[in-house]
Amino acid sequence: MALAEYYLDYNATAPMRPETVAAVAEALAAGGNPSSMHQHGQRARARVDAARRRVADMFDVLPHQIVFTSGATEANNLAMLGGGARRLISAIEHPSVAASDETCPRIPVDATGTVRLDALETLLIEHRPDLVAVMAANNETGVIQPLGEIARLVHARGARLLVDAVQAAGKMSVPLGSAGADMITLSAHKLGGPQGVGALILGEDQPLAPRQRGGGQEGRRRAGTENVAGVVGFAHSLGCAVDWGEVAALRDRLEAGARASCPDALIVGEAAPRLPTTSCLLTPGLGNEAQMMALDLANVRVGVGAACSSGRVESSAVLRAMGLSDELARCAIRLSLGWASVAADVEAFLATYARLVARRGAGSALLNRPTLTT
Ligand code: PMP
Repeated sequence: MALAEYYLDYNATAPMRPETVAAVAEALAAGGNPSSMHQHGQRARARVDAARRRVADMFDVLPHQIVFTSGATEANNLAMLGGGARRLISAIEHPSVAASDETCPRIPVDATGTVRLDALETLLIEHRPDLVAVMAANNETGVIQPLGEIARLVHARGARLLVDAVQAAGKMSVPLGSAGADMITLSAHKLGGPQGVGALILGEDQPLAPRQRGGGQEGRRRAGTENVAGVVGFAHSLGCAVDWGEVAALRDRLEAGARASCPDALIVGEAAPRLPTTSCLLTPGLGNEAQMMALDLANVRVGVGAACSSGRVESSAVLRAMGLSDELARCAIRLSLGWASVAADVEAFLATYARLVARRGAGSALLNRPTLTT
């Protein structure tokens, strides 16, 4: 019998529901190129059209406002590079936004991880950007940004607002239009859909310069044969309801339990509004790699900072932007819950965490207590 696995890393990728897997498998088995004029191709076209309508309905936009992509990394690159030449981004953006323009100014955040509106106003005046990027909710801390106020300031200066809604989508409303974003990016696999598919949603009449050329797909904004099964799974996952109140109760239990074991633990961003799913737990003196590995041995899967493509853990740029020292940032783990989370996941985490905290007192070489500089 397989050992139980306790999964607390939904912000890296959420498990797929069996019904979504079945919808993807059905589309894969049916095959077809949506650009083929014959009936086999047209059946594939109908699947893509239905998926596009479903995503459009969820965001209250028209189907032509959706550009399907290979994921949010591509969608963010497309929006950043095709959405305006002078850019301004927050200091806590995902690397797919940040690396799209390494030299543009960064809007600082305060100690809670919230974008500083005074600094945004000054930068808008000084830099006069065409495009401003601020994510809806942070992938490491879950901290939610005041998008209404940000949109008001950005639009008052004639700029456009790009909102990475990858972690927020399905959990809170992310408005598009004059009171909200001009462009929104999404990723299916954070919602219980397949990996390798996402979308850029454009506000009405928002221009976009294509980057990928060589075909007329996606209204000439993104060339390449559509990922038919991917978009089917994406649309399916968006339609699945989750009781976020229940998830929030699990998250609260997790944070209370962690505090009971370790009174000096910090919940990063706790003072700001946060997603109901995410907890960034910083335990002074417990290195995050050591925590992650010990938890992994107990079949408890957690995240360490940003999911790291190279397999090497770097200290989190998000936590450093919030004013935490490099040393403290290396003591934070990310616990993220979702549609299939249950109390046993939380209790399994808490049992192992309590043992780790008890060992911290004994002073292991891996678990050096850092100097508290913040
Ligand atoms: N933005 C945020 C906030 C994310 O968390 C992620 C995934 N780590 C991405 C963008 C990139 O999404 P994808 O994996 O679909 O490229």
